[in-house]
Order: sequence, then C-alpha cells, then structure tokens
Amino acid sequence: MFGEEISLMVLPETKERIAALKAERKAIILAHNYQREEVQELADHIGDSLELSDIAATTEAEVIVLCGVYFMAESAAALAPEKTILLPEKDAGCPLADMVTPEKLRLYKEKYPDAAVVTYINSSAAVKAESDVCVTSANAAAVVNSLDAGRILFIPDRNLAHFVSRQTDKEIIPWAGYCVTHQRVSVVDLQRARQAYPGAPVLVHPECRPEVVEKADAVLGTGGMLRYVKGTDAAEVVVGTEEGLLSCLRRERPDLKFHLLSPGLLCPGMKYTTADKILASLENMEDRVTVSPEIRERAAASLQRMLELSSTE
Ligand code: SF4
Repeated sequence: MFGEEISLMVLPETKERIAALKAERKAIILAHNYQREEVQELADHIGDSLELSDIAATTEAEVIVLCGVYFMAESAAALAPEKTILLPEKDAGCPLADMVTPEKLRLYKEKYPDAAVVTYINSSAAVKAESDVCVTSANAAAVVNSLDAGRILFIPDRNLAHFVSRQTDKEIIPWAGYCVTHQRVSVVDLQRARQAYPGAPVLVHPECRPEVVEKADAVLGTGGMLRYVKGTDAAEVVVGTEEGLLSCLRRERPDLKFHLLSPGLLCPGMKYTTADKILASLENMEDRVTVSPEIRERAAASLQRMLELSSTE
C-alpha cells in the first residue's frame, strides 16, 4: 500500500502472527539495546538492563518475552514472580555473569565481613541473592556513594569496579571478572579511530579496560550514550560498545554517522535471539525462566534496593 512503511527485516506474516499471539497471551516483548535489528523492530520496549528490569516489575502484561541474556530473564522473574518470563533462546548467556558463583562469593564475603556487597546487574539471581544491592553501569558510582559502608566488594566486573573507584573515597575490592566483548577494545583501536575520524567524540562503555576508559571523551552505559548523541553537535561519533546499540543510535539521530570503535564488537549471547525464535517462544510458551523462592526473595531485595536508590538520583 502506498505510504505504508515496509520492513525488510521481519516478514509481514511473522509480524502478524507475533502480534496475534501477544494479544492472546497478554504478552509484551522487551529487548536489550544490543539485540539484532529484527528483534528491536518487534519490541514494545528497548532499553538497558535497568530500564528492562523496571518495566518487568511494573507492566500489567502477564507474559514477558525477554530478548536479552539469561540473567536478564532471571531478574524479570525475580521482580515479577506472578508473570511468565520467556527467554526465546535458552542458550543466550553472559560469560561475565558466569565468572562468579554464589559459593565463591560466600567465601569472599567471609574474608571481608565488614564490606558491603555491590553486584552488577550482569550476574545470576543466586549471586544477586548474596548481595546487598545491585547496580548498573549507569548508577554504580551513585549507589556505592549512597551506602554507609566504607569498604565495598564489587562483583563481578573488574573494569567497572575500577571506573567506580575513580568516583568514590570508599575502598573498592574488585572481583576479577570481565566482559569478553568490551575487554577486546584496545588503546590501539582508540588511537586508530581518532586518526580515521578526527574531531569525532569517542564514547566507551565502563566495561572497557581502564586504559581505554582513560583516553575516551565520555564513559557511558548504553542509556547514557543514547542521551549523549541526542544532544551532540558532532557530525560523527565513535562508539565503543556492542554493535547492536548502533541501531538505537541511528534511530535517535539518523543525521549522524556512527563508527564502531573496534571491528566485530559483538556479544554472541545477545545475537542468538531472532524474530523466528520470538515467534516459536510465544507459540510454545518456552523457555520459561523461573527463580526458586528462597533465591528469588533475596535477589529481588537487591534489585529493588537498586531501583529505589536509582529513582531518587
Ligand atoms: Fe555479558 Fe558483555 Fe555480553 Fe553484556 S556484552 S551480555 S556483559 S558478555
């Protein structure tokens, strides 16, 4: 039909079937900023971990299709136990989240009994249950500074821990984990980008190495990068995070040119979900992600504390 926008990413029949199933199941689709463009196109909401957690906790939908990685579906299940949480791709995992287990964290806590445990949202529900409060990359420093404790066990991302340590007087004791995707960004990549795109601001995620973070123009989570480009006067921007965010940035500022800081900056777990898998997930109501009641209550308390502290920022 003339004037109708035609998507090249998702087949119209797939779109229609998903829309019908969503209505039938009272479902919504939440997608992380790093998801494929075809998934973003189908989403009711696209956002960072904090935004998706917040929507999961407050939506009136009965079914949430979480297009992200496993820990995100677990967070939704912890915050909204009465809802059905579907993860379209059961193998969508996060290597960073897998770098800490509740057993190892309990041993660490015994070593530092006076420390508060601050855990990045990129962690399993069982690890969140062992924590005092969760954080995202956007609110980590503010949450740490709002705590009474002078000593913080920061779990599990060492690079984010380092970034936070530059914004607080508290003693930060990092876990040794790292994001395999952001860890790949090097200073050499950054220098090459500066030469190739002189004058373009370089934005990097705080999961990048400290030496990269030091040389960037701005260090931001995905939500922060979106807000940055909204207000920039620059004609082109270099982006040091997972390539899926470029789709979001282009929608926000179609007039700008965006360049990925390092070639192939992909998170495999974030790319497993496709339009067909969303359709199959809604058809079969699989894979359902649940959290056991004893873990759920404590994990939800850590997440809820973060949401409360973030809403007062
Ligand atoms: Fe995990 Fe890094 Fe992928 Fe995020 S980008 S899901 S932290 S591996």
